[in-house]
Amino acid sequence: MDIHEHQAKEILAGFGVPVPRGGLAYSPEQAAFRCRELGGGPCVVKAQIHSGGRGEAGGVKLCKTEAGVREFAGGLLGRSLVTKQTDASGKQVYRLWIEEASDIQREMYLGFVLDRKSERIMIVASGHGGMEIEDLADEDPDSLIRMVIDPAVGLAEYQARKLAFRLGLKGPQVGQMVTVLRACYRAYRDLDATMVEINPLVLTGDGTLVALDAKMSFDTNALFRRSRVAALRDPGQEDPRECFAADHGLAYVGLDGDIGCIINGAGLAMATMDMIKLAGGEPANFLDIGGGASPERVCQAFRTVLSDAKVSVILVNIFAGINRCDWIAKGVVQAYKDVGIDRPVVVRLSGTNVAEGRKIIAESGLPIVSADTLADAADAAVAARPKSQAA
Ligand code: GDP
Ligand code: MN
Repeated sequence: MDIHEHQAKEILAGFGVPVPRGGLAYSPEQAAFRCRELGGGPCVVKAQIHSGGRGEAGGVKLCKTEAGVREFAGGLLGRSLVTKQTDASGKQVYRLWIEEASDIQREMYLGFVLDRKSERIMIVASGHGGMEIEDLADEDPDSLIRMVIDPAVGLAEYQARKLAFRLGLKGPQVGQMVTVLRACYRAYRDLDATMVEINPLVLTGDGTLVALDAKMSFDTNALFRRSRVAALRDPGQEDPRECFAADHGLAYVGLDGDIGCIINGAGLAMATMDMIKLAGGEPANFLDIGGGASPERVCQAFRTVLSDAKVSVILVNIFAGINRCDWIAKGVVQAYKDVGIDRPVVVRLSGTNVAEGRKIIAESGLPIVSADTLADAADAAVAARPKSQAA
């Protein structure tokens, strides 16, 4: 789960990372008020969206006066911001962070990530900040400093000092850097984060370190025990289809094709998408309804898939181990009643209680196409597409 820059800054500041003073605004008037609060400018106006690359996309601007803040805020709010990290439709801007401007002497990059190879938290740092890490890795790979943290010891003071020296910091800046590093590490570890990034971390004219940007992501599987982090979720920044699915416990990923998929098991879902492609079709989504799916859950799966207007046919493919084919079949029949299915449906059932499941489908009198094997099901789904859709 991603959070906004201002939320990440608040969290990191709580652990001891120095951040500029600032405030939130949801309207141009509030933005102007924030600017006045901060002394009347100059201020930096920053679009709060779940994406980096805002600077290049016109979502971050240094404004000298309150009037300038008001004007820029007015142009930004309500707009969709397309960055190189978003898709073509971009992300909606409906909150701004107004921050006192900093006198930037030097920009650095600082990131904490999970290194899967060593199974440990790793610090990635560079003396060249401002650029995205991918570009840094391409253009100046030698500047990247990597440091793995031993979980039994935590981030040792000597390690943090060594990193500060390698970044070329001197005198009191070394101590400040140690504070920043230890704070980020504690925030990462204590809150079940998967990523902490400060880019840029800057050295200001008076020689102090400040986090000008901050980004944090969290492990969704740990959110149940991090209620304060969970409350920071902003569904307005998520794909509405994926959002709806997540709220109903379904693993769903939206894709570009027109064959909607309702499947149990991630492996079978992947295999089914391959079979659809082999049969000449394109899947509209990945959807794993999981084990032990009740008829209600099947209905929610139908709702999720049907919320995508591109879907022209639905393929239900169940290999029931923990699941029960009769429950799935009941769910399909119930979905016709409750959800109102207006597109062809192909169902392939196999495994536990398959005879009962097929009987329910056959006796329902509904126009459901039954298929025996995975290949039959994919062929039937492709054949059931309206003529205009077929290649
Ligand atoms: P991102 O593009 O989404 O990563 O957004 P950032 O918060 O990193 O802002 C983009 C750039 O704006 C930074 O790399 C800085 O160069 C610049 N910037 C941000 N805050 C300030 C500020 O307070 N003063 C000045 N002069 N520049 C700033
Ligand atoms: Mn940044």
